[in-house]
Amino acid sequence: MNPSPPDPAAQPDPAGTAPHPADPVVAELSHISGIDVAHGARLADLTTLRIGGRPRALLECATADAVVAAVRALDAADVPVLVLGGGSNLVVAGGDLDLVAVAVRNREVDYLTGSGDDQLVVRAGAGLTWDDLVADTVGRGYGGLECLSGIPGSVGATPVQNVGAYGVEVAQILHRVRWFDRATGVDEWVTPDALGLEYRTSVLKNTDRAVVLEVEFRLDPAGRSEPIRYAELASRLGVAPGDRTDPAVVRRTVLDLRRGKGMVLDDDDSDTWSAGSFFTNPVIPRDELPTVRSRVAARLGTAQSEQMPAFSAPGGVKLSAGWLIERAGFSKGHPSSSSPARLSTKHTLALTNRGQATADDVIALAREVRDGVREAFGVELHPEPVWVGCHI
Ligand SMILES: Cc1cc2nc3c(=O)[nH]c(=O)nc-3n(C[C@H](O)[C@H](O)[C@H](O)COP(=O)(O)OP(=O)(O)OC[C@H]3O[C@@H](n4cnc5c(N)ncnc54)[C@H](O)[C@@H]3O)c2cc1C
Repeated sequence: MNPSPPDPAAQPDPAGTAPHPADPVVAELSHISGIDVAHGARLADLTTLRIGGRPRALLECATADAVVAAVRALDAADVPVLVLGGGSNLVVAGGDLDLVAVAVRNREVDYLTGSGDDQLVVRAGAGLTWDDLVADTVGRGYGGLECLSGIPGSVGATPVQNVGAYGVEVAQILHRVRWFDRATGVDEWVTPDALGLEYRTSVLKNTDRAVVLEVEFRLDPAGRSEPIRYAELASRLGVAPGDRTDPAVVRRTVLDLRRGKGMVLDDDDSDTWSAGSFFTNPVIPRDELPTVRSRVAARLGTAQSEQMPAFSAPGGVKLSAGWLIERAGFSKGHPSSSSPARLSTKHTLALTNRGQATADDVIALAREVRDGVREAFGVELHPEPVWVGCHI
């Protein structure tokens, strides 16, 4: 989906007697090559936050054609659809969900050389695990994707929120996207300008606009990384900001940095049972910056106010959500070591499920943090994940 959120409590047929409009469509789709239908699947088993109830059906689609067939038929029957990748950017309500989950699982990879010696593009199926693609390109000695190492989820979701980390975002390396336009019914290749890519968003995020089927990224065949723009990474690598270096070394260093923050999935580390950074870094109008600084000064003193990170960004000034959360009084592990949902013990920006949390637990914690930052500094935090059947 991004369908309008279904109400998990609104059972179309509580007694289970009438056929649901999704059922005949799903039955029909089960005969299509490349589609596997699972009933009784739980989204808690398919999301990194490990939360989420049961869709009416889960359609595992192994090819782009299967994805198109499934979404086309479900849309025609007005059945709410959740397009599912790796489930790493979702907060899903519990209970029975009035939707069909279409899992995108096409995973082919092709390397395409252009007319010039310096042109190389990798084309990947939307269902491929993103970090497998990064590892493959870096393993072949190509530069471009290394700073985005260790980000969970699928290739197809990377343009959805213009995935970014360590000074690189997908917009900088994206060549083309093949999508199924759900309004026109056309399966086509589009260039990045069609995607409206901005900081952690695009025309695809929280909309039913299109399903990504394949993605092409530009690579550096000479084996130079993207310019290293992120100060912490440059300092770890011992290079000047803006330098290019060995993509394999960058990948290793990024993975180390991310692990230290609980930002690489690990079944044995509940600090990673999250949806990643839960809030985007807030962008405020430039003329509001002095007011925020004076609120910080009033609460924490002038030194803290002067040290508050603030960077120029389209639309104003970008602040650090993690810095604001900590300075508003939320420490790592908040609220307590016995809470089912709590802030990661490694990174205040990640809300984690310690195993038994429900969507309500996560929502309550998210509201507490958002409201606490607003009260302390007058800054509004916006959640980064996509909400399914629930909202903050
Ligand atoms: C530990 C951790 C660390 C993270 N670190 C980062 C980070 O550094 N930077 C960052 O940007 N994000 C980060 N994330 C968030 C997340 O990994 C990314 O947003 C990722 O791209 C989501 O991919 P997914 O396949 O899991 O998408 P899902 O969670 O399955 O879906 C997310 C949204 O994308 C839509 N979607 C998925 N696939 C498609 C498709 N093929 N076509 C159309 N829509 C689709 C879904 O419908 C949904 O609306 C992190 C998450 C975790 C858990």
